[in-house]
Amino acid sequence: MALTPIEQALEQILSDVEPIGAETIACADALGRILAQDVVASVNVPPLDNSAMDGYALRREDVVLGKPLLLSQRIAAGEVGLPLKPGTAARIFTGAPIPENADAVIMQEQVECVDDAIIPQREPKPREHIRAAGQDIREGDLLLSAGRKLTAADLGLLASNGCTEVCVARRIKVALLSTGDELIEPGEPLSVGQIYNSNRPMLQALISGLGCELFDIGIVADNAEQTAAALKGAAEQADVIISTGGVSVGEEDHVKAQVEQLGHLSLWKLAIKPGKPVAYGRVRNTPFIGLPGNPSSSFVTFLLVARPYLLKMQSAECLAPAAWQVHAGFDWPKAGSRQEYLRVKVVQGQAGASAQLYQNQSSGVLRSASWANALAVIPIGETLAKGDLVSVLLFSDLGL
Ligand code: AMP
Ligand code: MG
Repeated sequence: MALTPIEQALEQILSDVEPIGAETIACADALGRILAQDVVASVNVPPLDNSAMDGYALRREDVVLGKPLLLSQRIAAGEVGLPLKPGTAARIFTGAPIPENADAVIMQEQVECVDDAIIPQREPKPREHIRAAGQDIREGDLLLSAGRKLTAADLGLLASNGCTEVCVARRIKVALLSTGDELIEPGEPLSVGQIYNSNRPMLQALISGLGCELFDIGIVADNAEQTAAALKGAAEQADVIISTGGVSVGEEDHVKAQVEQLGHLSLWKLAIKPGKPVAYGRVRNTPFIGLPGNPSSSFVTFLLVARPYLLKMQSAECLAPAAWQVHAGFDWPKAGSRQEYLRVKVVQGQAGASAQLYQNQSSGVLRSASWANALAVIPIGETLAKGDLVSVLLFSDLGL
């Protein structure tokens, strides 16, 4: 198979996505989940005109500079006052409803208090310091649209609308296989020839960051039997299978062959760097995404391939962030035959934002991904000179 350009690969893979369906959950548990239905406002927020200040509600026509206005009532937040008597003012506090007839609030700092009256020091403007009913939310407004990833502010908005529950995409169960005879879990002593399984916690975090549930298969040995057994178990129990390692061309790479035995592969090898040996297919009928074993490759390919896949399963509106253009803080003199995703740090300098390159871009160097805050995208065949504009995908836009 020839290397597939990433755009073509994504089109193909994403057209194979089957939506996961929806469930209703408590708003308190909904952070980061994908909204499955539009939310329409059922109330006005604020419900009534109310005061934006601690001060005095009055009728502007009653204000004559130097002339006292008798205080006829006191209205705190949570209370509802009486209609304001002409020629008087109401003591009022922030958030308290404006009494009928009043058309402005004067700040307490702008009046002189004498016994049970106030003397305004200036003439308030029409509706000064009055927050209009419904200025935030109007009944019937589309508050949040389906496909949105719920943020902290969204949870606040749902609460202002009185919601306790929200309909979101069901939690996808993602089976994760870490293949490799050399792998051992942190906490165990390291024998000669072994390395710690760094992909597992990294992918676990990436998977749960997308609102998915992890079904951890653990470390799978490099042999056909164990690989097949792990894949079968994963296909039975999970909605999606993600594996790392074992998808290259070596004799010890069993994943690809076993997927082909138990189902089919529809894609293998992308024209990207790092991360060429990405595989996509199905085991029985369960979608399978095979990521390369090298930790930086797993990281990058998860973001480029698995992330949009899992988001599309949840019917998310945004599958990939828009790239930003910043100045390259480095030269990239050698044109590549694969699209490169360089681990860079975007920093703000006097001449604007620039991308600094992590020195070692080897796919086995995970520190590049830990150090970086963005991926710089270098298209096939292109070079860069320091100062040129380069496209970057910010980790913050990828939810990292
Ligand atoms: P593979 O894709 O299986 O050929 O693995 C490529 C490289 O990534 C090898 O050097 C592996 O030791 C390393 N590797 C594979 N899986 C992991 C993992 N889960 N954690 C850390 N390194 C890994
Ligand atoms: Mg391996």
